[in-house]
Amino acid sequence: MKKQFAVIGLGRFGGSICKSLVDEGIEVLAIDQDEEKVNEFASLVTQAVIADTTDEKALRGLGIRNFDHVIVAIGDDIQSSILTTLILVEMEVKHVTVKAQNDYHEKVLSRIGADEIIHPERDIGVRIAHNVVSKNVLDYLELSDEYSIVELAAGPTIDGETIVDLDLRSKYGCNILAVKREEDINVSPRPEAIIKEGDILIVIGADDDINRLENHWIDET
Ligand code: ATP
Repeated sequence: MKKQFAVIGLGRFGGSICKSLVDEGIEVLAIDQDEEKVNEFASLVTQAVIADTTDEKALRGLGIRNFDHVIVAIGDDIQSSILTTLILVEMEVKHVTVKAQNDYHEKVLSRIGADEIIHPERDIGVRIAHNVVSKNVLDYLELSDEYSIVELAAGPTIDGETIVDLDLRSKYGCNILAVKREEDINVSPRPEAIIKEGDILIVIGADDDINRLENHWIDET
């Protein structure tokens, strides 16, 4: 059976989640208290309804408990976001993802039992900062408070070197997970694999080690 998704709050963030889910062929129930927003999404999603999600009865009436994944994308109104999340958690919805506006909001959401908390503005800020630090940093993904994955573009000075030559493991404590070359991806490359200029190295490591790598090695390549 297809998974059932619901998105609460149809601002820019919630709206773009709805669109992406629909593009993936997923059935989406979109909910907002604002009639105009609901009308805007009515023809896109499987079902769009007007409801105040801080009203437990309204949520029950929508059968929200039976959904596999509910995304709370209420932004500015932190109180509504928290109350909605609390109701969903108490109803034992399988998976509740919530967008946090700030660190306090995140803390409360975590305490009340949200399964996943996302912080899009902060995450984008972190990614852009890494990109600004080094032009070779193409993308950045935080895995935990300590570990990240980074995509690095190989410059001319390492063209022709092997993974062993680069020796990222002993120099920086980082490991190369994969090397992308145009459409091809070489996962877990062998030590003798040769790097070419323009390859993209996907590297995993502790944040401090990745920072050292970004700052001291990559800009020289
Ligand atoms: P974004 O950062 O995603 O752009 P935004 O500023 O566009 O956010 P917000 O106004 O923060 O969006 O909120 C997103 C939506 O959540 C709005 O359309 C708002 O009507 C809706 N919303 C807020 N509170 C509730 C509620 N209690 N029940 C249902 N929908 C709500």
